[in-house]
Amino acid sequence: MREITLIPGDGIGPEITEAVKAVFSAAKVPVTWEEENAGQTTFDSMGELIPSTLIASLKKNKVALKGPITTPVGKGFKSINVQLRQMFDLYSNVRPAKTTPGVNTRFDNVNLVLFRENTEGLYSGLEMFDERLQISDSVARLTRVGCRKIIRAAFEYANKHNCKKVTAVHKANILKSAGALFLSEASEIAKEYPHIQYDDKIIDNMCMQLVIKPEQFDVIVTTNLFGDILSDLCAGLVGGLGVVSGANIGNDMAIFEAVHGSAPDIAGQGKANPTALLRSAIMMLHHIDLKDEANRIEAALDATLANREQCTGDLGGKASTMEFAQHIIAKL
Ligand code: NAD
Repeated sequence: MREITLIPGDGIGPEITEAVKAVFSAAKVPVTWEEENAGQTTFDSMGELIPSTLIASLKKNKVALKGPITTPVGKGFKSINVQLRQMFDLYSNVRPAKTTPGVNTRFDNVNLVLFRENTEGLYSGLEMFDERLQISDSVARLTRVGCRKIIRAAFEYANKHNCKKVTAVHKANILKSAGALFLSEASEIAKEYPHIQYDDKIIDNMCMQLVIKPEQFDVIVTTNLFGDILSDLCAGLVGGLGVVSGANIGNDMAIFEAVHGSAPDIAGQGKANPTALLRSAIMMLHHIDLKDEANRIEAALDATLANREQCTGDLGGKASTMEFAQHIIAKL
């Protein structure tokens, strides 16, 4: 039995977590859950936003599944997600976006994976406000080693999964320092993988290309802010945040997470779609080499998604979160 740290999160987090646990239990996946939470909930009960028991659990288990955590906008504590990524150097944010039969979208042949640098760039936390001059600075710091790590991760993934092309996305025409550093590292590393086609795109053009002809992309690698925005854009191409998975991966730890937020507007109503968290859990099973279990759950999920009325309201169905999970379980 492999022990996994489970962070249910806030809002709809506990509901979708229960659905995933039910599917895993029915599929007899050989994992046990060590449940630890973070954020406002643990601050209110334990006085800690990221409890020391959670940190100890992550260090011990090295793999976690995480629900969404509410972050106050423009004030209050620093995002728990950002803190965990920086604390454990989870530098790769991996976001697959693939068309699923039955899920309504404008395109029907998207199959790409986005690698977003997860710890540097505009999210480095180098922010200051000069009261006297009324000037605010947010520094987008990139390091050569940080660029190399995320670009290498993208090429290694492409190599392992027989992907044809890697596209580096940047703004080196304007950002002559950070953008140029990222671009030059990408073209250097690309030379080590001559069998993989390599190209680069400026971020604004990339946005347009993605919404006109997304099937031209295979693996995309980019810096933190561009990746944050592009990954949600890509989610929109395949059915939205409710159906895509995500992972934060470092050299010796990985946190798999639902990429949508805590959805306070529908929390506690049994309306939340558990697909995003379940797909992240399936990615996790591949990561820990439980491939048969991963494939079996994925097949049952895909068969359920193909049957709209068995899905939650956001996908055009009538099922509650748990009914959706029961339909998946019935197909295992
Ligand atoms: P959100 O993703 O929570 O909600 C946006 C819309 O999508 C809402 O209408 C919501 O009902 C719907 N939605 C989201 N997930 C759904 C699901 N699984 N099933 C059905 N509908 C779903 O985004 P937001 O409202 O911008 O953010 C709410 C809170 O979540 C904020 O505090 C934000 O900081 C936080 N957040 C956390 C994460 C994370 O923990 N990874 C990511 C994004 C936002």
